[in-house]
Amino acid sequence: MKEDVRKLVIIGSGPAGLTAAIYGCRAALDPLVFMGTKYGGQLMVTSEVENFPGFPDPVLGPDLMERMKSQAQRLGAELVQEDVVKVDFTKYPFEVKSDTRATRALAVILATGANPRRLNIPSEAKLMGRGVSNCAVCDAFFFRGKKLAVVGGGDTAMEEATFLTKFAASVQVIHRRGELRASAMMQKEAMSNPKISFVWDTVVTEVLGDMKVTGVRTRNLKTGAEGRLDVDGLFVAIGYDPNTEIFRGQVELDEKGYVKVRNKTETSVPGIFVAGEAHDFRYRQAITAAADGCKALLDAEKFVKQRAEAATVSQR
Ligand code: NAP
Repeated sequence: MKEDVRKLVIIGSGPAGLTAAIYGCRAALDPLVFMGTKYGGQLMVTSEVENFPGFPDPVLGPDLMERMKSQAQRLGAELVQEDVVKVDFTKYPFEVKSDTRATRALAVILATGANPRRLNIPSEAKLMGRGVSNCAVCDAFFFRGKKLAVVGGGDTAMEEATFLTKFAASVQVIHRRGELRASAMMQKEAMSNPKISFVWDTVVTEVLGDMKVTGVRTRNLKTGAEGRLDVDGLFVAIGYDPNTEIFRGQVELDEKGYVKVRNKTETSVPGIFVAGEAHDFRYRQAITAAADGCKALLDAEKFVKQRAEAATVSQR
């Protein structure tokens, strides 16, 4: 197994990880990026991106990620398409292992992101990007004047529903219980919006449509009654799962599995930094993840420099 010591290892290859890699090259940290076998993060399943600055015309999510990857590569980052299977942050230099290599690192940036939860019904996957979406900020614009449904009862669902009303004619929130989980303020905002209505105690059993969404089939969990709503789009907002399982026991996680942040991008272990949705459940945008990657790198750079200075002093 190949073993080496690197100044910086980055785990993850969405906008957070690749921005950290770009800045890391320019800081002469020669980053090694474990991109994961499925590289690129959530933008790889996004169609047109219209809100990333610098692209006056829409850019496809995978194309945007390919550009970030090429930029990091051109600057000298080593990108490997491998999953990290184990980390040991109790050792220093830290240990990061994939199936083929065991790498030691002076600093590590965790940028493994999060995955939106799915309803896990076949028609949802079939129509993803064709009327089914997980991101109102990304896709609301395409539904001007349309009838929409949002699934979920938490803050994300309320936020998505409220945002969608800027463009949509109406938004029906479908929730599996009779009361919302969302914070009082967000509930109030959604409930007082004349374009938003609620369908309680109900789940979506099928998304209807062939090439695009034409409606959803529903079931009332209390009465068992089957129903159908004619909508042009379905936003699934039932939460996210951060990809942080391999860090459990190594850095502090909150009760939902997000990495706990101490000071800006620092985790509970000095020298381990976090960027993007592995900790950020609030903003969730490509641009905020990218900005976070930059911040984590600047903090990691400082850490590596301080360690090097301390080592020089102790050798005198
Ligand atoms: P969440 O709080 O976990 O809520 C998920 C919602 O989806 C719940 O209402 C849940 O129903 C429902 N749900 C889960 N699985 C489902 C399924 N398979 N089918 C149907 N419905 C399902 O997730 P979130 O709304 O994404 O929020 C996550 C965290 O981010 C929270 O701490 C939240 O406060 C925070 N957040 C904050 C902001 C903000 O401050 N601006 C914005 C967004 C999120 P039940 O209620 O029945 O469990």
